[in-house]
Amino acid sequence: MIIVMEENATDEQISLVIDRLVRLGFDIHRSTGVRHTVLGAVGGRIIDTRDIELIDGVKEVLRISAPYKLASRAFKPDGTRIKIRDVTIGGPEVIMMAGPCTVESRDQVMAIAELASANGAKVLRGGAFKPRTSPYSFQGLGEEGLKYLRQAADRHDLLVVSEIMEPSQIPLFIRYVDILQVGARNMQNFNLLREVGRLNKPVLLKRGPAATIEETLLAAEYIMSGGSHEVMICERGIRTFEPYLRNTFDISAIPVLKKLSHLPVVADPSHATGRRDKVAPIAQAAVAAGADALLIEVHNDPDNALCDGAQSLLPDQFERLMTKLRLIAEAVDRTMASGVPATVMG
Ligand code: PEP
Ligand code: MN
Repeated sequence: MIIVMEENATDEQISLVIDRLVRLGFDIHRSTGVRHTVLGAVGGRIIDTRDIELIDGVKEVLRISAPYKLASRAFKPDGTRIKIRDVTIGGPEVIMMAGPCTVESRDQVMAIAELASANGAKVLRGGAFKPRTSPYSFQGLGEEGLKYLRQAADRHDLLVVSEIMEPSQIPLFIRYVDILQVGARNMQNFNLLREVGRLNKPVLLKRGPAATIEETLLAAEYIMSGGSHEVMICERGIRTFEPYLRNTFDISAIPVLKKLSHLPVVADPSHATGRRDKVAPIAQAAVAAGADALLIEVHNDPDNALCDGAQSLLPDQFERLMTKLRLIAEAVDRTMASGVPATVMG
């Protein structure tokens, strides 16, 4: 931390600041310039910098080390690879996670799993418990939905990711899913973060619609401080002053997260844009920008979907997108899997 004193700060004021920081466990390095005295504070515990800023004679306080530690790139400079069965997230291959917004029926999820797998997806997504903005909207099939997801995924050798909404659902999710999704609305549900951090299950943590990158990494830190280091961060669009699309996809968050953290980065262009005609360009940009995985909504009959039909890709759009993404992945020295023809998997 750097403390810059006002030009006219007195020796007494400077000593007061130094005493306070020493009491907080910092080592102080003082540099007296022609106009300003600058104090470098090293070590010490995590403090609210405003407490120092409010002391008379202090001009500004600049934090130079990140408040998150386990999630920071310095903790694991080579990057984290999350290996689940034969799928590695964070390696050279860009992983496609695809499926419906919500599980509606066994037939629906079976058909979509087949389509996803036939085009190279490795993970089947689908909500069984939905965080709907309105209490009157469809809330998901619950355990039945998780069962259908598991059955469909197993038939096509896919992994399952699904959103967990509260700690009491943990026993259920442990049984059915491979990756626990913590949704954007729950990014700062610290109780949930702590509880999923105690489990031995990878977590896909979505950035909150109004969360900064630092707040997102601090949410990841909550999970990791419980012992679970297999966390991926998902950019799914943030709320800005631009109303045209559902959210604004923060493309720069991808390289920034890759610089600040060792955790794999997932991009969700479906919730970011809210319209299927805008999903493909953002998905392509995300792979070009360095995303390790994509989370995309696909539906076999989006016009009749119970949730987020407008942003769900049609089967042929998904197929075309996968073909393009393979080319983009290659251009940025990555790979993307080709599909498994449905007849091979049965
Ligand atoms: C979802 O992925 O189904 C979802 C609800 O996303 P988000 O939490 O990003 O809104
Ligand atoms: Mn959705």
